[in-house]
Amino acid sequence: MQYDVIVIGSGPGGYVAAIRCAQLGLKTAIVEKYNTLGGTCLNVGCIPSKALLDSSEHYHNAAHAFKTHGINLDNLGIDFGQMIKRKQQVVDANTSGISYLMKKNKIDTHFGVGSFKDKNTIIVKKSDGTVTEITSKNVIIATGSKPSALPFLPIDKKRIITSTEALSLSEVPKHLVLIGGGVIGLELGSVYARLGAKVSVIEYMDSIIPTMDKSLGRELQKVLTKLGMEFYLGHKVTGAVVNGDEVTVSCDTPKGEKLELKGDYCLVAVGRIAYTDGLGLENIGITVEERGRKITVNDHLETSVKGVYAIGDVIKGAMLAHKAEDEGTLVAEIIAGQKPHIDYNLIPGVVYTWPEVAAVGQTEEQLKAAGVKYKTGSFPFKASGRARASGDLDGFVKVLADAATDEILGVHMIGPRAADMIAEAVVAMEYRASAEDISRMSHAHPTYTEAMREACLAATENRAIHI
Ligand code: FAD
Ligand code: NAD
Repeated sequence: MQYDVIVIGSGPGGYVAAIRCAQLGLKTAIVEKYNTLGGTCLNVGCIPSKALLDSSEHYHNAAHAFKTHGINLDNLGIDFGQMIKRKQQVVDANTSGISYLMKKNKIDTHFGVGSFKDKNTIIVKKSDGTVTEITSKNVIIATGSKPSALPFLPIDKKRIITSTEALSLSEVPKHLVLIGGGVIGLELGSVYARLGAKVSVIEYMDSIIPTMDKSLGRELQKVLTKLGMEFYLGHKVTGAVVNGDEVTVSCDTPKGEKLELKGDYCLVAVGRIAYTDGLGLENIGITVEERGRKITVNDHLETSVKGVYAIGDVIKGAMLAHKAEDEGTLVAEIIAGQKPHIDYNLIPGVVYTWPEVAAVGQTEEQLKAAGVKYKTGSFPFKASGRARASGDLDGFVKVLADAATDEILGVHMIGPRAADMIAEAVVAMEYRASAEDISRMSHAHPTYTEAMREACLAATENRAIHI
Protein backbone atom coordinates (compact mmCIF):
# COMPACT_ATOMS: atom_id res chain seq x y z
CA MET A 1 0.00 0.00 0.00
CA GLN A 2 1.57 3.26 -1.18
CA TYR A 3 0.49 6.60 0.30
CA ASP A 4 1.39 10.25 -0.01
CA VAL A 5 1.20 10.61 3.77
CA ILE A 6 1.16 8.16 6.68
CA VAL A 7 0.26 9.62 10.06
CA ILE A 8 1.36 7.64 13.13
CA GLY A 9 -0.96 8.35 16.07
CA SER A 10 -4.63 9.36 15.96
CA GLY A 11 -4.80 12.04 18.69
CA PRO A 12 -5.92 15.58 17.86
CA GLY A 13 -2.59 16.20 16.11
CA GLY A 14 -2.71 13.02 14.03
CA TYR A 15 -6.36 12.88 13.03
CA VAL A 16 -6.51 16.57 12.13
CA ALA A 17 -3.32 16.20 10.06
CA ALA A 18 -4.86 13.20 8.27
CA ILE A 19 -8.11 15.02 7.51
CA ARG A 20 -6.33 18.14 6.23
CA CYS A 21 -4.03 15.96 4.05
CA ALA A 22 -7.08 14.21 2.58
CA GLN A 23 -8.80 17.57 1.97
CA LEU A 24 -5.71 18.64 0.02
CA GLY A 25 -5.98 15.57 -2.24
CA LEU A 26 -3.18 13.52 -0.64
CA LYS A 27 -3.67 9.76 -0.32
CA THR A 28 -3.52 9.31 3.43
CA ALA A 29 -3.34 6.56 6.04
CA ILE A 30 -3.43 6.75 9.82
CA VAL A 31 -1.89 4.19 12.17
CA GLU A 32 -3.13 3.80 15.76
CA LYS A 33 -1.92 1.28 18.31
CA TYR A 34 -5.10 1.26 20.41
CA ASN A 35 -8.40 0.04 19.02
CA THR A 36 -10.12 3.42 19.31
CA LEU A 37 -9.12 6.64 17.58
CA GLY A 38 -8.68 10.05 19.23
CA GLY A 39 -5.51 9.57 21.28
CA THR A 40 -5.00 10.83 24.82
CA CYS A 41 -7.34 13.76 24.29
CA LEU A 42 -10.49 11.83 23.46
CA ASN A 43 -9.84 8.62 25.40
CA VAL A 44 -8.08 9.58 28.63
CA GLY A 45 -7.60 13.35 28.53
CA CYS A 46 -9.57 16.44 27.55
CA ILE A 47 -12.94 14.84 26.88
CA PRO A 48 -13.37 12.39 29.80
CA SER A 49 -11.98 14.95 32.26
CA LYS A 50 -14.46 17.56 31.06
CA ALA A 51 -17.32 15.04 31.26
CA LEU A 52 -16.48 14.39 34.93
CA LEU A 53 -15.93 18.10 35.58
CA ASP A 54 -19.42 18.83 34.24
CA SER A 55 -21.07 16.00 36.21
CA SER A 56 -19.34 16.93 39.46
CA GLU A 57 -20.17 20.63 38.98
CA HIS A 58 -23.86 19.73 38.57
CA TYR A 59 -23.72 17.78 41.83
CA HIS A 60 -21.85 20.54 43.64
CA ASN A 61 -24.34 23.17 42.49
CA ALA A 62 -27.28 20.97 43.44
CA ALA A 63 -25.77 20.45 46.88
CA HIS A 64 -24.61 24.00 47.54
CA ALA A 65 -26.01 26.57 45.13
CA PHE A 66 -29.55 25.50 44.26
CA LYS A 67 -30.90 26.51 47.65
CA THR A 68 -30.02 30.17 47.09
CA HIS A 69 -31.94 29.97 43.79
CA GLY A 70 -34.99 28.77 45.67
CA ILE A 71 -34.67 25.17 44.53
CA ASN A 72 -34.93 22.56 47.23
CA LEU A 73 -33.86 18.98 46.63
CA ASP A 74 -34.47 16.06 48.93
CA ASN A 75 -32.37 12.91 48.96
CA LEU A 76 -29.60 14.27 46.78
CA GLY A 77 -27.02 11.57 46.15
CA ILE A 78 -24.20 10.47 43.90
CA ASP A 79 -24.35 7.42 41.64
CA PHE A 80 -20.66 7.41 40.89
CA GLY A 81 -20.92 4.30 38.70
CA GLN A 82 -23.41 6.14 36.47
CA MET A 83 -21.13 9.19 36.37
CA ILE A 84 -18.23 7.06 35.12
CA LYS A 85 -20.58 5.23 32.69
CA ARG A 86 -21.76 8.54 31.24
CA LYS A 87 -18.16 9.71 30.92
CA GLN A 88 -17.42 6.57 28.90
CA GLN A 89 -20.47 7.15 26.68
CA VAL A 90 -19.20 10.66 25.97
CA VAL A 91 -15.77 9.23 25.08
CA ASP A 92 -17.29 6.51 22.86
CA ALA A 93 -19.45 9.01 20.98
CA ASN A 94 -16.41 11.18 20.32
CA THR A 95 -14.06 8.38 19.28
CA SER A 96 -16.61 6.84 16.94
CA GLY A 97 -17.08 10.32 15.50
CA ILE A 98 -13.40 10.27 14.51
CA SER A 99 -13.84 6.85 12.84
CA TYR A 100 -16.70 8.36 10.84
CA LEU A 101 -14.49 11.31 9.83
CA MET A 102 -11.74 8.93 8.65
CA LYS A 103 -14.22 7.09 6.41
CA LYS A 104 -15.81 10.29 5.16
CA ASN A 105 -12.40 11.62 4.13
CA LYS A 106 -11.33 8.25 2.61
CA ILE A 107 -8.43 7.88 5.02
CA ASP A 108 -7.24 4.29 5.52
CA THR A 109 -7.07 3.35 9.20
CA HIS A 110 -4.49 0.74 10.24
CA PHE A 111 -4.78 -0.45 13.84
CA GLY A 112 -1.46 -1.62 15.31
CA VAL A 113 1.86 -0.29 16.55
CA GLY A 114 3.59 1.66 13.79
CA SER A 115 7.37 1.64 13.49
CA PHE A 116 9.90 2.80 10.91
CA LYS A 117 11.59 0.14 8.77
CA ASP A 118 13.09 2.97 6.75
CA LYS A 119 12.00 6.56 6.21
CA ASN A 120 9.33 5.57 3.68
CA THR A 121 8.21 2.22 5.10
CA ILE A 122 6.08 1.76 8.20
CA ILE A 123 5.64 -1.65 9.77
CA VAL A 124 2.24 -2.05 11.45
CA LYS A 125 2.14 -4.75 14.11
CA LYS A 126 -1.41 -5.67 15.10
CA SER A 127 -2.38 -6.90 18.56
CA ASP A 128 -2.77 -10.46 17.17
CA GLY A 129 0.90 -10.37 16.15
CA THR A 130 0.31 -10.05 12.38
CA VAL A 131 2.44 -7.55 10.55
CA THR A 132 1.84 -5.44 7.45
CA GLU A 133 4.03 -2.90 5.69
CA ILE A 134 2.83 0.33 4.17
CA THR A 135 4.90 2.89 2.31
CA SER A 136 4.62 6.62 1.86
CA LYS A 137 6.40 9.68 0.49
CA ASN A 138 5.87 11.51 3.81
CA VAL A 139 5.36 10.40 7.41
CA ILE A 140 3.93 12.49 10.24
CA ILE A 141 4.81 11.33 13.76
CA ALA A 142 1.97 12.24 16.14
CA THR A 143 2.53 9.73 18.92
CA GLY A 144 1.79 12.12 21.79
CA SER A 145 2.83 11.74 25.39
CA LYS A 146 2.36 9.71 28.56
CA PRO A 147 2.31 10.71 32.24
CA SER A 148 5.69 11.49 33.83
CA ALA A 149 6.56 9.51 36.93
CA LEU A 150 8.83 10.45 39.81
CA PRO A 151 11.78 8.02 39.91
CA PHE A 152 11.42 7.41 43.65
CA LEU A 153 7.64 7.00 43.58
CA PRO A 154 6.48 4.06 41.43
CA ILE A 155 2.92 4.17 40.08
CA ASP A 156 1.01 0.99 41.00
CA LYS A 157 -2.15 2.14 39.14
CA LYS A 158 -4.26 1.11 42.15
CA ARG A 159 -3.46 3.46 45.03
CA ILE A 160 -0.71 5.53 43.39
CA ILE A 161 -2.30 6.56 40.14
CA THR A 162 -2.01 8.79 37.08
CA SER A 163 -4.76 10.82 35.42
CA THR A 164 -5.73 7.75 33.37
CA GLU A 165 -6.76 5.75 36.44
CA ALA A 166 -8.22 8.84 38.13
CA LEU A 167 -10.73 9.06 35.27
CA SER A 168 -12.04 5.55 35.90
CA LEU A 169 -12.04 5.01 39.67
CA SER A 170 -14.66 2.71 41.16
CA GLU A 171 -15.31 4.98 44.16
CA VAL A 172 -14.98 8.59 45.25
CA PRO A 173 -11.75 8.81 47.27
CA LYS A 174 -12.03 9.75 50.93
CA HIS A 175 -8.72 11.60 50.87
CA LEU A 176 -6.98 12.19 47.56
CA VAL A 177 -3.36 13.28 47.95
CA LEU A 178 -2.36 15.04 44.80
CA ILE A 179 1.23 15.58 43.71
CA GLY A 180 1.43 18.57 41.34
CA GLY A 181 -0.66 21.74 41.43
CA GLY A 182 -0.76 22.05 37.64
CA VAL A 183 -3.61 21.65 35.20
CA ILE A 184 -4.35 17.94 35.64
CA GLY A 185 -4.06 18.07 39.42
CA LEU A 186 -6.43 21.00 39.80
CA GLU A 187 -9.01 19.76 37.27
CA LEU A 188 -9.21 16.23 38.67
CA GLY A 189 -8.78 17.52 42.22
CA SER A 190 -11.83 19.74 41.61
CA VAL A 191 -13.87 16.77 40.39
CA TYR A 192 -13.27 14.80 43.58
CA ALA A 193 -13.43 17.78 45.96
CA ARG A 194 -16.88 18.61 44.51
CA LEU A 195 -17.96 15.00 45.07
CA GLY A 196 -17.00 15.23 48.73
CA ALA A 197 -13.40 13.96 48.86
CA LYS A 198 -10.79 15.67 50.98
CA VAL A 199 -8.14 16.82 48.49
CA SER A 200 -4.59 17.80 49.47
CA VAL A 201 -2.33 19.30 46.82
CA ILE A 202 1.44 19.07 47.22
CA GLU A 203 3.17 21.49 44.84
CA TYR A 204 6.91 21.93 44.50
CA MET A 205 6.73 25.58 43.40
CA ASP A 206 5.45 28.45 45.58
CA SER A 207 2.20 28.83 43.61
CA ILE A 208 -0.31 26.64 41.80
CA ILE A 209 -0.49 26.76 37.96
CA PRO A 210 3.01 28.29 38.26
CA THR A 211 3.57 28.88 34.54
CA MET A 212 0.52 31.14 34.21
CA ASP A 213 0.27 34.82 35.26
CA LYS A 214 0.81 34.81 39.03
CA SER A 215 -2.44 36.68 39.71
CA LEU A 216 -4.42 33.72 38.31
CA GLY A 217 -2.83 31.16 40.63
CA ARG A 218 -3.46 33.36 43.67
CA GLU A 219 -7.16 33.81 42.86
CA LEU A 220 -7.66 30.15 41.91
CA GLN A 221 -6.07 29.00 45.15
CA LYS A 222 -8.50 31.20 47.12
CA VAL A 223 -11.50 29.73 45.31
CA LEU A 224 -10.34 26.11 45.56
CA THR A 225 -9.58 26.61 49.25
CA LYS A 226 -13.24 27.66 49.67
CA LEU A 227 -14.13 24.37 47.95
CA GLY A 228 -12.21 22.61 50.71
CA MET A 229 -8.94 21.81 48.92
CA GLU A 230 -5.75 22.09 50.99
CA PHE A 231 -2.49 23.32 49.53
CA TYR A 232 1.05 22.45 50.51
CA LEU A 233 3.12 24.84 48.38
CA GLY A 234 6.90 24.78 48.19
CA HIS A 235 6.84 21.19 49.44
CA LYS A 236 9.19 18.55 48.05
CA VAL A 237 7.75 15.05 47.79
CA THR A 238 10.23 12.40 48.88
CA GLY A 239 8.26 9.15 48.62
CA ALA A 240 5.03 7.23 49.05
CA VAL A 241 4.25 3.91 50.67
CA VAL A 242 1.13 1.82 50.08
CA ASN A 243 -0.24 -0.23 52.94
CA GLY A 244 -3.47 -2.01 52.03
CA ASP A 245 -6.00 0.67 51.11
CA GLU A 246 -3.88 3.46 52.51
CA VAL A 247 -1.09 5.44 50.90
CA THR A 248 1.31 7.61 52.91
CA VAL A 249 3.01 10.38 51.01
CA SER A 250 6.04 11.97 52.60
CA CYS A 251 7.48 15.36 51.78
CA ASP A 252 9.83 18.06 53.03
CA THR A 253 8.21 21.35 54.03
CA PRO A 254 9.76 24.70 52.98
CA LYS A 255 11.32 24.86 56.46
CA GLY A 256 12.98 21.49 55.88
CA GLU A 257 10.68 19.62 58.27
CA LYS A 258 9.22 16.21 57.41
CA LEU A 259 5.49 15.92 56.69
CA GLU A 260 3.38 12.83 56.00
CA LEU A 261 -0.05 12.86 54.38
CA LYS A 262 -2.18 9.72 54.54
CA GLY A 263 -4.88 9.17 51.95
CA ASP A 264 -6.64 6.36 50.13
CA TYR A 265 -5.36 7.49 46.70
CA CYS A 266 -2.31 9.44 45.55
CA LEU A 267 -2.58 11.06 42.10
CA VAL A 268 0.76 11.87 40.51
CA ALA A 269 0.30 14.79 38.10
CA VAL A 270 3.77 16.23 37.58
CA GLY A 271 3.72 16.69 33.81
CA ARG A 272 3.87 14.47 30.77
CA ILE A 273 6.69 13.04 28.70
CA ALA A 274 6.87 12.60 24.92
CA TYR A 275 6.04 9.08 23.75
CA THR A 276 8.27 7.48 21.12
CA ASP A 277 8.67 3.94 22.47
CA GLY A 278 8.60 1.24 19.79
CA LEU A 279 8.61 3.75 16.91
CA GLY A 280 11.95 2.52 15.59
CA LEU A 281 13.34 6.05 15.34
CA GLU A 282 16.84 4.55 15.58
CA ASN A 283 16.24 2.83 12.21
CA ILE A 284 16.11 6.22 10.47
CA GLY A 285 18.65 8.09 12.59
CA ILE A 286 16.26 10.31 14.59
CA THR A 287 17.38 10.89 18.16
CA VAL A 288 15.24 12.29 20.98
CA GLU A 289 16.15 15.00 23.46
CA GLU A 290 17.48 13.61 26.73
CA ARG A 291 15.14 15.75 28.86
CA GLY A 292 11.47 15.18 28.01
CA ARG A 293 12.36 12.74 25.16
CA LYS A 294 10.98 15.17 22.57
CA ILE A 295 11.74 14.91 18.85
CA THR A 296 13.61 17.94 17.47
CA VAL A 297 11.99 19.64 14.48
CA ASN A 298 12.69 22.74 12.35
CA ASP A 299 10.29 25.63 11.65
CA HIS A 300 8.39 23.38 9.18
CA LEU A 301 8.08 20.75 11.92
CA GLU A 302 10.30 18.49 9.82
CA THR A 303 12.69 16.19 11.69
CA SER A 304 16.35 15.72 10.78
CA VAL A 305 15.08 13.23 8.14
CA LYS A 306 13.55 14.79 5.01
CA GLY A 307 9.89 13.92 4.57
CA VAL A 308 9.45 12.84 8.20
CA TYR A 309 7.56 15.40 10.29
CA ALA A 310 6.50 15.46 13.96
CA ILE A 311 3.64 17.33 15.68
CA GLY A 312 1.82 17.73 18.98
CA ASP A 313 2.96 16.55 22.40
CA VAL A 314 5.91 14.65 20.93
CA ILE A 315 7.66 17.92 19.99
CA LYS A 316 8.53 21.18 21.78
CA GLY A 317 5.91 23.59 23.10
CA ALA A 318 2.74 23.41 25.14
CA MET A 319 1.12 19.99 25.46
CA LEU A 320 -2.33 21.08 24.32
CA ALA A 321 -4.84 19.51 21.97
CA HIS A 322 -5.46 22.69 19.98
CA LYS A 323 -1.70 23.26 19.55
CA ALA A 324 -1.42 19.69 18.20
CA GLU A 325 -4.37 20.34 15.86
CA ASP A 326 -2.85 23.56 14.53
CA GLU A 327 0.44 21.75 13.89
CA GLY A 328 -1.39 18.91 12.12
CA THR A 329 -2.96 21.43 9.75
CA LEU A 330 0.34 23.25 9.28
CA VAL A 331 2.29 20.12 8.29
CA ALA A 332 -0.43 18.92 5.90
CA GLU A 333 -0.38 22.30 4.15
CA ILE A 334 3.44 22.36 4.02
CA ILE A 335 3.44 18.89 2.41
CA ALA A 336 0.89 20.21 -0.12
CA GLY A 337 3.23 23.11 -0.98
CA GLN A 338 1.46 25.87 0.95
CA LYS A 339 3.06 28.40 3.34
CA PRO A 340 1.09 28.26 6.60
CA HIS A 341 2.14 29.85 9.89
CA ILE A 342 1.42 29.38 13.60
CA ASP A 343 1.85 32.19 16.14
CA TYR A 344 2.76 30.17 19.23
CA ASN A 345 2.38 33.27 21.42
CA LEU A 346 -1.33 33.24 20.64
CA ILE A 347 -2.18 29.68 21.62
CA PRO A 348 -4.51 30.06 24.61
CA GLY A 349 -4.19 28.03 27.79
CA VAL A 350 -7.24 27.02 29.82
CA VAL A 351 -7.80 25.31 33.17
CA TYR A 352 -11.33 23.90 33.42
CA THR A 353 -11.85 24.40 37.13
CA TRP A 354 -14.82 26.50 38.24
CA PRO A 355 -14.34 29.36 37.83
CA GLU A 356 -12.38 28.62 34.68
CA VAL A 357 -8.92 30.05 34.11
CA ALA A 358 -7.85 31.18 30.63
CA ALA A 359 -4.99 33.15 29.21
CA VAL A 360 -3.30 34.17 25.99
CA GLY A 361 -0.14 36.12 25.17
CA GLN A 362 2.43 37.42 27.62
CA THR A 363 2.14 37.27 31.40
CA GLU A 364 2.96 40.26 33.57
CA GLU A 365 6.07 38.42 34.77
CA GLN A 366 7.25 37.86 31.17
CA LEU A 367 6.70 41.51 30.21
CA LYS A 368 8.65 42.68 33.29
CA ALA A 369 11.51 40.28 32.53
CA ALA A 370 11.63 41.50 28.91
CA GLY A 371 11.63 45.16 30.04
CA VAL A 372 8.46 45.95 28.05
CA LYS A 373 6.56 49.02 29.27
CA TYR A 374 2.94 48.00 29.71
CA LYS A 375 -0.28 49.14 31.33
CA THR A 376 -2.89 47.01 33.08
CA GLY A 377 -6.67 47.04 33.14
CA SER A 378 -8.65 44.72 35.42
CA PHE A 379 -12.32 44.10 35.97
CA PRO A 380 -13.72 41.88 38.75
CA PHE A 381 -16.70 39.62 38.03
CA LYS A 382 -18.37 40.79 41.23
CA ALA A 383 -19.08 44.04 39.34
CA SER A 384 -20.69 42.20 36.39
CA GLY A 385 -24.50 42.13 36.22
CA ARG A 386 -24.44 38.76 34.46
CA ALA A 387 -22.18 37.25 37.13
CA ARG A 388 -24.44 38.66 39.86
CA ALA A 389 -27.42 36.94 38.22
CA SER A 390 -25.71 33.56 37.99
CA GLY A 391 -23.94 33.91 41.34
CA ASP A 392 -20.44 33.49 39.86
CA LEU A 393 -18.73 36.38 41.57
CA ASP A 394 -15.16 35.10 41.89
CA GLY A 395 -12.42 36.14 39.50
CA PHE A 396 -11.49 38.92 37.11
CA VAL A 397 -10.30 39.75 33.62
CA LYS A 398 -6.86 41.37 33.35
CA VAL A 399 -5.67 42.98 30.14
CA LEU A 400 -2.05 43.94 29.56
CA ALA A 401 -1.45 46.50 26.81
CA ASP A 402 1.63 48.19 25.41
CA ALA A 403 2.15 51.49 27.28
CA ALA A 404 2.95 53.40 24.11
CA THR A 405 0.79 51.80 21.38
CA ASP A 406 -2.10 50.34 23.46
CA GLU A 407 -1.70 47.00 21.57
CA ILE A 408 -3.01 44.12 23.69
CA LEU A 409 -0.05 41.97 24.76
CA GLY A 410 -1.73 39.53 27.13
CA VAL A 411 -5.15 38.67 28.54
CA HIS A 412 -5.50 36.67 31.77
CA MET A 413 -8.87 35.76 33.15
CA ILE A 414 -10.42 33.65 35.85
CA GLY A 415 -14.18 33.55 35.95
CA PRO A 416 -17.36 31.96 34.62
CA ARG A 417 -16.98 30.65 31.05
CA ALA A 418 -13.46 32.10 30.78
CA ALA A 419 -12.58 29.11 28.56
CA ASP A 420 -15.00 30.39 25.92
CA MET A 421 -14.37 34.08 26.57
CA ILE A 422 -10.65 33.82 25.82
CA ALA A 423 -11.49 33.37 22.12
CA GLU A 424 -12.26 37.08 21.87
CA ALA A 425 -8.80 37.91 23.18
CA VAL A 426 -7.18 35.52 20.69
CA VAL A 427 -9.02 37.13 17.76
CA ALA A 428 -8.18 40.62 19.03
CA MET A 429 -4.50 39.78 19.36
CA GLU A 430 -4.34 37.97 15.98
CA TYR A 431 -5.54 41.24 14.44
CA ARG A 432 -3.20 43.22 16.73
CA ALA A 433 -6.09 45.13 18.28
CA SER A 434 -5.53 47.85 20.85
CA ALA A 435 -7.34 47.84 24.20
CA GLU A 436 -9.31 50.83 22.94
CA ASP A 437 -10.41 48.86 19.83
CA ILE A 438 -12.09 46.24 22.05
CA SER A 439 -13.51 48.84 24.41
CA ARG A 440 -15.27 50.53 21.46
CA MET A 441 -16.91 47.28 20.24
CA SER A 442 -20.43 46.42 21.34
CA HIS A 443 -20.64 43.52 23.80
CA ALA A 444 -24.11 42.07 24.42
CA HIS A 445 -25.62 42.88 27.80
CA PRO A 446 -25.81 41.09 30.14
CA THR A 447 -22.94 38.73 29.29
CA TYR A 448 -19.70 37.72 30.99
CA THR A 449 -17.88 39.12 27.93
CA GLU A 450 -18.65 42.64 29.13
CA ALA A 451 -15.88 42.03 31.70
CA MET A 452 -13.38 41.85 28.81
CA ARG A 453 -14.60 45.16 27.46
CA GLU A 454 -14.49 46.74 30.92
CA ALA A 455 -10.92 45.48 31.49
CA CYS A 456 -9.94 47.03 28.14
CA LEU A 457 -11.66 50.27 29.18
CA ALA A 458 -9.71 50.14 32.44
CA ALA A 459 -6.47 49.73 30.47
CA THR A 460 -7.51 52.67 28.25
CA GLU A 461 -7.08 55.69 30.49
CA ASN A 462 -8.79 53.97 33.42
CA ARG A 463 -12.21 54.40 31.82
CA ALA A 464 -14.07 51.33 33.15
CA ILE A 465 -17.74 52.17 33.64
CA HIS A 466 -18.87 49.74 36.32
CA ILE A 467 -16.00 50.00 38.83
P1 FAD B 1 -2.08 12.07 21.72
O1 FAD B 1 -3.43 12.61 21.90
O2 FAD B 1 -1.33 11.61 22.92
O3 FAD B 1 -2.22 10.89 20.69
C1 FAD B 1 -1.14 10.08 20.33
C2 FAD B 1 -1.66 8.77 19.79
O4 FAD B 1 -0.58 8.07 19.19
C3 FAD B 1 -2.24 7.84 20.84
O5 FAD B 1 -3.53 7.41 20.46
C4 FAD B 1 -1.27 6.68 20.89
O6 FAD B 1 -1.90 5.43 21.18
C5 FAD B 1 -0.74 6.68 19.48
N1 FAD B 1 0.58 6.04 19.30
C6 FAD B 1 1.68 6.25 20.04
N2 FAD B 1 2.72 5.51 19.54
C7 FAD B 1 2.21 4.83 18.50
C8 FAD B 1 2.78 3.92 17.56
N3 FAD B 1 4.06 3.58 17.61
N4 FAD B 1 1.97 3.41 16.61
C9 FAD B 1 0.66 3.75 16.53
N5 FAD B 1 0.09 4.62 17.37
C10 FAD B 1 0.86 5.15 18.33
N6 FAD B 1 -5.34 19.55 26.26
C11 FAD B 1 -6.16 20.58 25.98
O7 FAD B 1 -5.86 21.35 25.04
N7 FAD B 1 -7.32 20.79 26.67
C12 FAD B 1 -7.68 19.99 27.69
O8 FAD B 1 -8.72 20.21 28.30
C13 FAD B 1 -6.84 18.91 28.04
N8 FAD B 1 -7.17 18.10 29.05
C14 FAD B 1 -6.35 17.04 29.34
C15 FAD B 1 -6.70 16.22 30.40
C16 FAD B 1 -5.89 15.14 30.74
C17 FAD B 1 -6.28 14.27 31.90
C18 FAD B 1 -4.72 14.87 29.97
C19 FAD B 1 -3.86 13.69 30.29
C20 FAD B 1 -4.36 15.69 28.92
C21 FAD B 1 -5.17 16.78 28.60
N9 FAD B 1 -4.84 17.65 27.56
C22 FAD B 1 -5.65 18.72 27.27
C23 FAD B 1 -3.64 17.46 26.75
C24 FAD B 1 -4.01 16.78 25.40
O9 FAD B 1 -4.66 15.56 25.66
C25 FAD B 1 -2.75 16.54 24.57
O10 FAD B 1 -2.04 17.75 24.44
C26 FAD B 1 -3.13 16.03 23.20
O11 FAD B 1 -3.85 14.83 23.28
C27 FAD B 1 -1.88 15.80 22.35
O12 FAD B 1 -2.28 15.34 21.11
P2 FAD B 1 -1.31 14.46 20.20
O13 FAD B 1 -2.05 14.25 18.94
O14 FAD B 1 0.02 15.09 20.13
O15 FAD B 1 -1.10 13.09 20.99
P1 NAD C 1 1.70 20.61 34.57
O1 NAD C 1 3.03 20.90 34.01
O2 NAD C 1 0.55 21.46 34.23
O3 NAD C 1 1.77 20.64 36.17
C1 NAD C 1 2.67 19.85 36.88
C2 NAD C 1 2.87 20.49 38.23
O4 NAD C 1 3.58 19.60 39.04
C3 NAD C 1 3.66 21.79 38.16
O5 NAD C 1 2.99 22.79 38.86
C4 NAD C 1 4.99 21.41 38.79
O6 NAD C 1 5.60 22.50 39.45
C5 NAD C 1 4.57 20.32 39.75
N1 NAD C 1 5.62 19.36 40.09
C6 NAD C 1 6.55 18.83 39.29
N2 NAD C 1 7.33 17.97 39.98
C7 NAD C 1 6.85 17.96 41.25
C8 NAD C 1 7.22 17.28 42.44
N3 NAD C 1 8.23 16.42 42.45
N4 NAD C 1 6.50 17.52 43.56
C9 NAD C 1 5.46 18.40 43.55
N5 NAD C 1 5.08 19.08 42.46
C10 NAD C 1 5.76 18.86 41.32
O7 NAD C 1 1.45 19.07 34.24
P2 NAD C 1 0.15 18.18 34.39
O8 NAD C 1 -0.83 18.85 35.26
O9 NAD C 1 0.63 16.82 34.73
O10 NAD C 1 -0.41 18.17 32.92
C11 NAD C 1 0.39 17.61 31.86
C12 NAD C 1 0.11 18.28 30.56
O11 NAD C 1 -1.21 18.01 30.14
C13 NAD C 1 0.27 19.76 30.67
O12 NAD C 1 1.31 20.15 29.81
C14 NAD C 1 -1.01 20.35 30.21
O13 NAD C 1 -0.82 21.32 29.24
C15 NAD C 1 -1.80 19.18 29.64
N6 NAD C 1 -3.17 19.33 30.14
C16 NAD C 1 -3.90 20.39 29.72
C17 NAD C 1 -5.17 20.60 30.22
C18 NAD C 1 -5.94 21.77 29.75
O14 NAD C 1 -5.58 22.36 28.74
N7 NAD C 1 -7.01 22.16 30.42
C19 NAD C 1 -5.69 19.73 31.14
C20 NAD C 1 -4.92 18.68 31.58
C21 NAD C 1 -3.66 18.49 31.05
